[in-house]
Amino acid sequence: MAEFIKFDRITKFYGPLCVVENLDLSIAKGEFVSLLGPSGSGKTTLLMMLAGFEQATSGKILLDGAAINDLPTHKRDMGVVFQSYALFPHMTVGENIAFPLQMRGIDKAETAARVKQALDMVQLSALADRRPSQLSGGQQQRVALARALVFEPRVVLMDEPLGALDKQLREQMQLDIRDLHRRLGLTIVFVTHDQSEALTMSDRVAVFNKGKIEQIGTPREVYDEPATRFVAEFIGETNLVEGVVEAIDGREATVRLPNGAHIVSAVSDGVAAGQPVYLSIRPERIDLAEARGEARNVLETEVTDSVYQGDHLRVQLQNDAHPLIAKLGRRSREFAPGTKVFAAFSAGDCRVIAP
Ligand code: ADP
Ligand code: MG
Repeated sequence: MAEFIKFDRITKFYGPLCVVENLDLSIAKGEFVSLLGPSGSGKTTLLMMLAGFEQATSGKILLDGAAINDLPTHKRDMGVVFQSYALFPHMTVGENIAFPLQMRGIDKAETAARVKQALDMVQLSALADRRPSQLSGGQQQRVALARALVFEPRVVLMDEPLGALDKQLREQMQLDIRDLHRRLGLTIVFVTHDQSEALTMSDRVAVFNKGKIEQIGTPREVYDEPATRFVAEFIGETNLVEGVVEAIDGREATVRLPNGAHIVSAVSDGVAAGQPVYLSIRPERIDLAEARGEARNVLETEVTDSVYQGDHLRVQLQNDAHPLIAKLGRRSREFAPGTKVFAAFSAGDCRVIAP
C-alpha cells in the first residue's frame, strides 16, 4: 500500500497522562479510514495532531513522504469538519463557504464558481443567502462539509461530524459523504464512536482502545475476524464462551468447553494448544433446530426467553455451562421458554480469541 499519511510511533502525553501510545498507522491516498473507539480512547487527539492543532510528544507524522510535525496548520492543506459546526454566524452560507478561498487569495470569479459548485455538491444552492441560524442541523453540517471541501484539500478530517444529527438524517449523511468520497477520490480520516457508522462508511476501520490501535482492517475483517476480546465486543454483539484449545490444524482449532463439549473454530496465528481462550460466536450466525442435524458445531441448550424485534427474533439460551444469544431472521418460528433446542454454527462463524 502506498503510504500517503503515516503516523510513525506517535506518542502523546497530556501532563503525566499518556493518551496515544507508540502508535503506527498508514493511510493510502484516496482511502476512507475511520478511527473507531470509546470516548477517551485518543481518537480526537490523533486527528488534532494530524491537523496540526496539537503537537506529538514523540514520533513522526508524514504526509506524502514529508514530515509535517513542524508545519503550521494552515500549510497542511487539510479540510476539517467537527461535530459542532463552527460556522461564522454573521456570514451567509455562501460567504461561509467562500471564506477558505478568500484566505488563500483566490480571485472573485474563481471563488464564485467554486462556491456554486460546492453548494450544488451538498444540495444547498437554494439556501446560499441564508445565515446559519436559519438552517437545520443537517443543513448546517452540509455547509461545514462544503466549506471543508471547497478548497480541494489534500486530506479531509472529520471528528464525529454527524453526532448531533437525528438517526435518519445521520444515516442519509453517511451515504452522502461516502458518495462524495468515491466521486471526488478524497482521502478521509473520520472519527466516530459509532460502530455501525464506521462499518457503513469506511474502506478500513482502526479500532482504538486506551490510546492504541487494537486492530485495523476492512469492515468485514474487524467484524468477522476480531483479533481481541475488546474488538469482538465493541463491534457488533457477540457471544464469548470460555474454553481451552485442545488441538490446532492449520486455520482451525478444536476447543473444549468447561462442560466437555468440543467446538471447531477459525483461529489466528499465535494461539497454541493448551491455551485458555474465548470463542466469539456472532448471534446472527447461530441456527436453532429441534433435531441435532449435520452442523459441525452443535450445543444442546434450552430457550430462556425470546423477543420479537421487528427485523429479527432474539432468543436467549442457556445450557449447563454458559448463556448464548441467537438472532434469527424475522421469518423464524417462535421458541417458547423451556424448549430444548440445538444451537448450530459452522467453524468459520466462530473465532478463537486469546484472553
Ligand atoms: P476520544 O476522541 O477518543 O474521545 P480524546 O483524544 O479526546 O479521546 O481524549 C483522550 C484522552 O486525553 C482523554 O482522557 C482526555 O480526557 C484527554 N485529553 C484530551 N485533550 C486534553 C487536553 N487538552 N488536556 C488534557 N487532557 C486531554
Ligand atoms: Mg473525540
